[in-house]
Formats: sequence, structure tokens, C-alpha cells
Amino acid sequence: MRVIVIGAGAIGLNCAYALERAGAEVTILDAAGVGAGASRRNAGWVVPTMSGPVPAPGIVLQSLRWMARRDSPLRIRPRLNAEFAGFMFQMLRNCNARQFEAGLSATLALNERTFELFDALAADGVPFESHRRGLYLLFQSEQKLKHHAEELETLARLGWDSSTVLDAQALRAAVPQASDEVVGGIDCPGERFIEPNSFVDGLAGVLAQRGVKICTQAKVSGVERGADGQVKAVIAGERWPADAFVVAAGAASGRVSSMFRGRVRIQPGKGYGFDLPNPAASFAKALYLAEGKVALTPFDDRVRLSGTMEFGTDESINEVRADGILATTRTYLSGWPAPGSTENSRAWSGQRPMTPDGLPVIGPLPGQPNVVVATGHAMLGITLSPVTGQLVSAMVLDRRVPPEAAAFRVDR
Ligand SMILES: Cc1cc2nc3c(=O)[nH]c(=O)nc-3n(C[C@H](O)[C@H](O)[C@H](O)COP(=O)(O)OP(=O)(O)OC[C@H]3O[C@@H](n4cnc5c(N)ncnc54)[C@H](O)[C@@H]3O)c2cc1C
Repeated sequence: MRVIVIGAGAIGLNCAYALERAGAEVTILDAAGVGAGASRRNAGWVVPTMSGPVPAPGIVLQSLRWMARRDSPLRIRPRLNAEFAGFMFQMLRNCNARQFEAGLSATLALNERTFELFDALAADGVPFESHRRGLYLLFQSEQKLKHHAEELETLARLGWDSSTVLDAQALRAAVPQASDEVVGGIDCPGERFIEPNSFVDGLAGVLAQRGVKICTQAKVSGVERGADGQVKAVIAGERWPADAFVVAAGAASGRVSSMFRGRVRIQPGKGYGFDLPNPAASFAKALYLAEGKVALTPFDDRVRLSGTMEFGTDESINEVRADGILATTRTYLSGWPAPGSTENSRAWSGQRPMTPDGLPVIGPLPGQPNVVVATGHAMLGITLSPVTGQLVSAMVLDRRVPPEAAAFRVDR
């Protein structure tokens, strides 16, 4: 079977990988290049313990408090656009305990195979930088620490019991750089992280070796249907015929799906990051600066800081908000350089594909069994990329929706 995958991010590459392994003849079309979207610009965490959807109970009040600060971790820029307003309204409606727990449990079920699938990629010869050093969560508020520990108890009830609460003394012994403002933390020793560039380049390299054609600067702009109404080809400069199509275009997936007459609600959720090539401090594990929502990832050659969520904006960089990441880091870690100092490099930005209920969209377009969508992975697109590839491969080649994918269908 000939399959066209639209998008060469972590999701598209993993879909192509699973499809090729299952015997399909795969071509990837990307408007820009491999990993040109969010898939190079993220923290690289592989974190089943963070399976909770973004719309969560309590987030509305917290968001209102944040709206007043120009450097806060969240910004919603209101836009006079019905699609955007409808999206935000739905997202607010999903900020309740029932939806959150249902989303958490469905996502956790997908994540059951995540580590095993990353190991399988490595064993199969995909070269990428991977760390099994785990993660410390740092808190400045006793109340937030208690609340998060309770959330982890929910995970333990769902069978994911891998974290320990640390008091201030134990936390400082583990993370000597922690500032006096840090009151405690949580140790998640089982979590992992990968280096995103090596991950997408590693996958693309192996795919190319196995005969998968990866066409960059190939923006899909339309589709062609046969007399039976089924999609027969996409247009990206030239005509690309195939038997099945996978839409994995990240934050642009709503637009691309509409070319296939599908309705998939996606809005970009912009994040910022900094890469610090020569950090003064070294870190045993990745760190999550909890209230500030900043991720610190110690790769082999640099430390990456990332965070913030902006809705309703383009890819441009708002220096004040990006610098908020550096300013926040200084309140958690002693001796951290100030924003604007020479030790800090320039900010980059990445667009997370967000959905109103915070869950990915993985499934055939209604009434179009040969078009499968795989997007909306929000903050978990790296974590969930291998399992998404497996699900999509079953949907495309066997025309089967695995039971664990039911919660992620397009028309939910
Ligand atoms: C700051 C930040 C930190 C993050 N940290 C983590 C983390 O620690 N762990 C984690 O699991 N996730 C994390 N994420 C989320 C993760 O990066 C995304 O969920 C993931 O990269 C999405 O992958 P994707 O393949 O769906 O989209 P993308 O990587 O955005 O790829 C989409 C591709 O589609 C292409 N495209 C778009 N339109 C077209 C078209 N018309 N024709 C052809 N091609 C097209 C684009 O060029 C792009 O290459 C983070 C994200 C950000 C921004």
C-alpha cells in the first residue's frame, strides 16, 4: 500500500516508521524540513507521569491571575475570530475534574508502552541521545507541592507509582543549586528525556536508508478525489497519488484537515526556550520548576530551558515573556545568570498543537477511511510519538481502530 504522510515532525516520522516496518511504501511531504515545527523545539521529556491534559481544574483562576503579568507562563491574546473564540470557550468548559481524570487515564493507557517503544526504536538502530536519569520537580509553595503529590497519588491508583516526595532538606541534598525559595520537591526517577534534534534526525536517517522518500519544501495545498469520492492524491507543487494519507502537520493540522473536508480543532500553543551551551552548573536529572512551569533539560552538550504557553499569537518572539523563563529560573536556582547577560543565548519559539480538551486527535476522518489524522499532542508530542505511530499504522493498514485509541477519535 502506498501511503503519504503529511508532516515530518516527531509524529509524522513515527507514523512513517511504523508504517514502513509493517510493509507500506511511504512518502513524507513536509512544507519546510525534518522537525521544522515543534519537534526540534521542546524539552525532550518522555514523561508518562505528566499524562494529565492541559485543561485542568483550578487552571481558570490561575490563568486569570497570570493574565495580569507580562512575563507569566500563560498568555491568551483574544482574537476576533469565531474559531479561536469557540476553541477557548471549549477549553474552559473542559477544566473540570471529571474530564481531567478521564483524559489522564486514557493518555496513561497509551503511555503504558512508551518506554518499551523508545527502547525498540533504539534496538532497531535509530540513533538518538537518550537519558534515563529521571526528573525532579521543584516547588516554592507547600500547598502546590501537596496538590501535585495528590495528583501523583491518582497516577499511583491508575498503576503508575514511581515518585517520592522530598522535603526541603532531601531536595537540597539532591539538587544543591536549589535556592532558599524552594520548599521541597518530587523525585520521578523512572522518567526519561531525549535530545530532540538527534531524535528527528535519527528517525529521518533510518527511514531514508529503508527507502522512505522524505520530500522537504513540499507544502500540501490541496487534494484530489476520484469518482467514488475517496482522496486519491494530494497536491504539493506536483501531484502525489497514494492509497492512504496521514495528516501529521502539527499546529497546521486543522488547516490541512479542512483540505480533506475534515474538521479538526487545533490552535497553536506557543512555547519559548533557550539553549545554554556552557552552563555553569551541571544537573543530575531534568528539573521542572513547578509554579513557573519551566523545564530544564541537561543534554550532553547544553542545558535547555523551556516553557510558557501563548494562545492567539504567531511564531514571533516576545522577549519579555521569553525572558520570564530566565527570571523564573533565577528564583529556583542560585547563581543563575540574569536575563540579557552574555551567558544566556537567544530565545527560540515552538508551536504546540493544542486541542480544546487537551487530548490528541488520532483516528480516521469520519467517512474517509483512507485519511487518518495524528495531531494535537500538546505537551506530549515527543512522549506519545512512538505509540501514535503504532496506532496509525493499524488504522491505515488494517482499517482498525485499536480500543485504546477510542478516546482520541476525531469526532469525540
Ligand atoms: C517549549 C516546548 C516544550 C515541549 N516539551 C515537550 C516535552 O518535553 N515532551 C514532549 O513529549 N513534548 C513536548 N513538547 C510538545 C512537542 O514538541 C509537540 O507536541 C510535538 O513536537 C508535535 O509534533 P508534530 O509532529 O505533531 O508537529 P510538528 O513537529 O510541529 O511537525 C509538523 C510538521 O508539519 C509540517 N507542515 C505543516 N503544514 C504542512 C503542509 N501544508 N504540508 C506539508 N507539511 C506541513 C511542518 O513544516 C512541520 O514540520 C513541547 C513543545 C514546546 C513548544
